[in-house]
Amino acid sequence: MRTHLLFPSLLLLGSLSLTAACSSGASGTPDPAPAGALPGSTSGTAPVMTVDPSKIKGLRIVNDSSENTSCPFAAGYPDVTGAEAMTAAMKKDVDGRLATFRSACDDGGGAGDVGELNISHQFLVASGDVLGVRLTTQDHSAAGSGLSVRTYWYDGRAGAYRTALGLVDDGSRDAFVSALKKRLKGREGTDADTVDEAFADPSNQTTILDDMVYTADGGLRVTFDRGDVGAPAAGTYVVTFPRATVTPWLSAFGKRAQQQTVRPSGPLDLGAAATPTPAVPTHTASGDDDTDCEKVKCVALTFDDGPAVPETATLLTHLAQYDARATFFTVGQNVAAHPGLVRAEARAGNEVGNHSWSHPDLTKLTSEQVAYQLNRTSAAIKAATGKEPTLFRPPYGAVNSTVRGATKLSPVLWTLDTEDWKYPDAAKVAQSVIGKVQRNDVVLMHDIHATSVAAVPEILRTLGARGYHFVTVSHLRATM
Ligand code: ZN
Repeated sequence: MRTHLLFPSLLLLGSLSLTAACSSGASGTPDPAPAGALPGSTSGTAPVMTVDPSKIKGLRIVNDSSENTSCPFAAGYPDVTGAEAMTAAMKKDVDGRLATFRSACDDGGGAGDVGELNISHQFLVASGDVLGVRLTTQDHSAAGSGLSVRTYWYDGRAGAYRTALGLVDDGSRDAFVSALKKRLKGREGTDADTVDEAFADPSNQTTILDDMVYTADGGLRVTFDRGDVGAPAAGTYVVTFPRATVTPWLSAFGKRAQQQTVRPSGPLDLGAAATPTPAVPTHTASGDDDTDCEKVKCVALTFDDGPAVPETATLLTHLAQYDARATFFTVGQNVAAHPGLVRAEARAGNEVGNHSWSHPDLTKLTSEQVAYQLNRTSAAIKAATGKEPTLFRPPYGAVNSTVRGATKLSPVLWTLDTEDWKYPDAAKVAQSVIGKVQRNDVVLMHDIHATSVAAVPEILRTLGARGYHFVTVSHLRATM
């Protein structure tokens, strides 16, 4: 049984923090349920460092997700100004996986469980001219292969995207590969022939050597996805080389990436033209909301999956213009990237709720994993707003007794689903609310979609004229 040491509070301190440390993880054991596990929690001994994304200038998280149990997917990957070539590589990978998954949903036609696709991210290095990102994909669809993890690197000095194998010097690749093979042979679940075969084709080397990260002490940890170098049932394999062993094999970029991991030189600077920091609305609520929902018609608009740049700021401006309040069910990895937007949500009198760290189906996780997903997000919200959330919305509306038992937060579902993620059409989204809304409805929308945000002024104008008041979920609950 693996144990994870969690230090969520450290996430909020400084630019570097220890997020994951694993012990007793025997390589080759199947990974239990990594969607809810710690990013970077594959077996190993030395911890992997991660970076506080709020310190990265010009960062935007690209999000796509559904809230639908018949096709549950959620993907979030970073787009950093100056590292466009790396973003393009991530986009290609993510879009390909999403397309395969969505077509499987269409083929399934709602005929049962199509599984779940979840893509989350983690910053490994973001300082000087080095950026390193790790994408973790959990694909439980028929076409998927379970867990797959890939690291992406950007070399700001050369202005080039680097794959994980780019950390190793071309002239040292053979020595590196034979050392890896030596470490893998004899492990449970694989044998010499399987390992030799996996590395025989040089183009396959790029495919299987796609996850390499530096440990806090400068060692290099190489993780092989399930089935890459052994029987799929044997799970992932991890090989960690100590710093002294791996350093002679590294490319010039690999050495800089190692150095920036062990001793970051300062803020990330990829030499891109300075991007202006996106404006955050400064509207401040004038006191508590005194709307009496017993006397007047109320509706609670809820916006999931953000905050997102630039959509959330636009939405806040719309809400302030109509003196409306809403509830934001935020995703922790996006809160960490954009705490200023979450602070602006709260400051304007809106409610900030918890929508998990990386948007997995919580009913597929263990109690500990559910607690991790929710606690880490609540800590990020508290760091941004000064206040712990009291509500959570389970991704896909999926909740069971294990989930309820793992948290003190109160679950919030919805009574009116706009299905805005499915129909990127502002007029249609507006009509889906205006045409169906009833008093005291809790309306589900997403502020990661520009079309959903664009629908809001018409909703506020039309329903406002009909006598509706826009309140937070907690306000609606308290006064009903
Ligand atoms: Zn969601």
